[in-house]
Amino acid sequence: MKAKFIAAALVPLALLAADTASDNAGRWWSYIEYLASDALEGRNTGSEGHRKAAEYVAGQFQAAGLTPAGERVDGKPSFIQPVAFLTKQLDEGQSSLALRTSIGIEPLKLGEDAIIGTRVDPASTVDAELVFVGYGLRIPELKYDDFAGLQSTGDTRGRIAVYLAGAPPDAAGSLASHYQTAAQRWAAMKNVGIIGGISIANPNHMDIPWERSSANRLQMTMQLVDPKMIETQGEQIAISWNPAHADELLADTGHTFKEIVDAAEAGKPLPHFVIRSRLQAHTVVKRSQVTSQNIAAIYPGSGKANEYVVMSAHVDHLGVGPAVNGDSIFNGAMDNASGVASMLEIANRLHETHAKTLRSILFVAVTGEEKGLLGSKYFAMNPTVPVKNMVADINADMFLPLYPFKILTVYGLDESTLGADAKAVGAEMGVKVQPDPEPLRNVFTRSDQYSFILEGVPSVMVDIGNEKGSKEEQIEKDWLATRYHGRTDDLNQPIDKAAAAKFNDLLMRLVLRVANESKRPEWRKDSFFKRFTK
Ligand SMILES: [Zn+2]
Repeated sequence: MKAKFIAAALVPLALLAADTASDNAGRWWSYIEYLASDALEGRNTGSEGHRKAAEYVAGQFQAAGLTPAGERVDGKPSFIQPVAFLTKQLDEGQSSLALRTSIGIEPLKLGEDAIIGTRVDPASTVDAELVFVGYGLRIPELKYDDFAGLQSTGDTRGRIAVYLAGAPPDAAGSLASHYQTAAQRWAAMKNVGIIGGISIANPNHMDIPWERSSANRLQMTMQLVDPKMIETQGEQIAISWNPAHADELLADTGHTFKEIVDAAEAGKPLPHFVIRSRLQAHTVVKRSQVTSQNIAAIYPGSGKANEYVVMSAHVDHLGVGPAVNGDSIFNGAMDNASGVASMLEIANRLHETHAKTLRSILFVAVTGEEKGLLGSKYFAMNPTVPVKNMVADINADMFLPLYPFKILTVYGLDESTLGADAKAVGAEMGVKVQPDPEPLRNVFTRSDQYSFILEGVPSVMVDIGNEKGSKEEQIEKDWLATRYHGRTDDLNQPIDKAAAAKFNDLLMRLVLRVANESKRPEWRKDSFFKRFTK
């Protein structure tokens, strides 16, 4: 038999499994009670509330006897890795958008017709023609190119691309997710001379209703200070257009938004056409700088101690906004105090059980996730242990214990051997394991595992799942529509603590299994993400 550490032999299962599930979730919940308390003011990246949260997480790591894995401060080890950000906030009163059509200039109402995004660094003035480019994607693997025809007729250069968010139906989940990232989409557009983008959400696949995303539109956005890490360099403007007002944009083109959405829903090709109106944008942005914190700690292994299984979860959330029903704080209890709490729970259980693991476990609590996976990107590109020695990343982000835990959703299930590990621990616990049920939401590239994937680390994200058409699916949908990125993702919401306790057990088993296997995880041969292997 090959040398293989078996988690169960090293850590008695009785210590892993909850004696009483609610006891177990009690400690997990207590971490959330602190991290999602009003005192931390929504843990916005760069804020005092985030700094306090980081200090708390570092304190918990210390109490669990972990080794600091942040940057050294004055030669001394520390749990903290400082990250510098450039902040941007739209001065909406000084900014304007208008369409110049054949009949004149039509001013647009910011927030109602459209939102000027500041994830890109917008140019102060843009005045350009428009072109509808389908999904605005170039996917070489499928020989799919939304720009080819338009480029050959000279209709892309100097224009702003208008596109329907989403991807063609034959693009598998991972492929679609990767090419829809801001970095990839902009690379394709820039390549054909496009200067900016207007995205229109498909109303059938919106996470957040327009009114709510519009209400958050003046949130400060951030980019990493290091120019090497800016993915949308050169993009002059990025606008989200209200799908309910899309026909204003398509006037006189002979196309309607309904026709485009119907084609997308039927899996038919989208049209590509020039829009005769011009978009005139005047944008004023207030800029500043802040520093925020990643927090990293190591539970040392006892065999291959210089190999690391990363467990990641983001600490940051959205901070504060204008009061709604007297509440101005985005507490982010599920997004993602819950994932950080799971990380702290696992760190503590390793400590308490004196678990012996073959590999080390590297806990990384990151900042800047809500700003575009920036803290994890910074960590993965400026790692405090060699990135080649990170054998896997297991990410926890908003796993939503809203109903009994019977199904585990694994994002990236079929991409690497980590999928088989997840299935094995699922089987041990009587939990069914399924792949991403809704690839159109691009979840696999929308949380921190993606920063590690791009540096070559096989990764998964795990969530509590449900069956299509079930009442659990409806509960999740309702949660997304009402609480996700809202002020009511707070401590006063119904949580299934037994589900959370069972999820923490599963996560612990998964981390231990990967840490103890003789072979390190690998991307599947046919996985799209294998290309990032270093
Ligand atoms: Zn979030």
